Amino acid sequence: LTKHLKSTDFLRDTGYIDGNWTGGNGAASFDVLNPATGEKLATLPEMGAAETAAAIDAAYKAQGSWAARPAKERSALLRKWHDLMIANADELAAILTAEMGKPLADARGEILYAASYVEWYAEEAKRINGETIPAPSADKRMLVIKQPVGVVGTITPWNFPSAMIARKVAPALAVGCTVVSKPAEQTPLSAIALAVLAEKAGIPAGVFNVVVGTDGPAIGKELCFNPKVRKISFTGSTEVGRILMRQCADQIKKVSLELGGNAPFIVFDDADIDAAVEGALVSKYRNAGQTCVCANRIYVQSNVYDAFAEKLAAKVRELSVGNGFDKGVTIGPLIEEAAIMKVETHIADAVAKGAKVAAGGKRFADEGTFFQPTILTGVDRTMKIAREETFGPVAPLFRFDTVDDVIAQANDTEFGLAAYFFASDLKKVWKVAEALEYGMVGINTGLISSEAAPFGGIKQSGLGREGSTHGVDDYLEMKYLCMGNL
Ligand code: ADP
Repeated sequence: LTKHLKSTDFLRDTGYIDGNWTGGNGAASFDVLNPATGEKLATLPEMGAAETAAAIDAAYKAQGSWAARPAKERSALLRKWHDLMIANADELAAILTAEMGKPLADARGEILYAASYVEWYAEEAKRINGETIPAPSADKRMLVIKQPVGVVGTITPWNFPSAMIARKVAPALAVGCTVVSKPAEQTPLSAIALAVLAEKAGIPAGVFNVVVGTDGPAIGKELCFNPKVRKISFTGSTEVGRILMRQCADQIKKVSLELGGNAPFIVFDDADIDAAVEGALVSKYRNAGQTCVCANRIYVQSNVYDAFAEKLAAKVRELSVGNGFDKGVTIGPLIEEAAIMKVETHIADAVAKGAKVAAGGKRFADEGTFFQPTILTGVDRTMKIAREETFGPVAPLFRFDTVDDVIAQANDTEFGLAAYFFASDLKKVWKVAEALEYGMVGINTGLISSEAAPFGGIKQSGLGREGSTHGVDDYLEMKYLCMGNL
């Protein structure tokens, strides 16, 4: 990794608590590996419940004075943090590629995307306005003020090691919350790098703390059961989301959850097929299929099914799989062996039930966790891939005939994060947009993420929204003030 970095400034082998670079009790450590090569990148201390409790204490102690600072000052510090992220984007991107695998250009894109949330909430910090309400009686005045919920625990996944943290920490800090952040065990170095920059930006000790370790359940329990934490914000699997929500039930702790998806991607026969192919390509294969908004089920209307499949296959053959640091690579490795196994299971199950492999279909034999970008045709609803999130570079193509039928199939899932469709008839566009039971719908586009938009899911895909002007709501309480006897 160091050969890709200008300095080793961002590489610390500890967590970050109360403004100190500090580790566990020295008893245990874990290694961070490069998924493309298996190379060891760093050895970090195992931090667990005790260190998490210490970080919570620090965040608790810092919260009052952080919230008491004028919004303009919090805004300026966040802006500084953003500027440092931009100035060091190449360094942050290299760390991200090394620990997560995505191509360097995509990693750089993620850093800019992460920074865009920090910028957005630096601006939003100044606009946490309250409300006055006309009172129903003459002797009263009624108003609403907004206050930070308090200490927030964030738990984030490895697929966007930088952006998922920024998306939570920026709005939390903007409104006066303090944070204890637990990154995924596969990708702690990006979180540490963000903390290095937060420190450089002058964000005070205790406001943003990072706890690293492989015992997610132990750290998670401390965050959920420690009464000083007032809110949990989680991005990850629906199973873990359920555990956290259950654990938060005793204290009625607030939760924001951004969980799994099973995105339908629908191509109607009046669509611009080339645009639909491009949309499918980015929505499916971005991050090697490892995003919660990746197209997971591609429904193509009968008339255009073969043309779409052929054009998509031609594009897929142009994708280049390899080490994210190598020039021209567009798809990196999957995060770990278990991810390859899930992809293989889904393909084998589909093929056993009659699907055909139209492109790819296999892992690369030599080494690492690389998988060929794959297209399956003749997929139907009896197959595993129709129900479960694949989280890999496999595009299953389902055939459909009518609008009502495809809407029913698209909604036939417990998930409700993102959906996409391509069509041109306006009447149909509105009908489908309104009928899809999803928190986000891409219409004639495969890329929907933006700091300016509310990201989040319905049904079992989550609670709350991240990004946009709404993103602060998850970190605010409203307090109603009633002044009487006037
Ligand atoms: P993924 O499939 O993306 O790894 P997970 O939901 O397993 O999704 O992981 C997302 C984050 O949740 C990671 O930071 C992981 O360490 C953490 N995690 C896993 N299990 C638990 C748990 N029981 N309690 C709290 N955090 C957990």
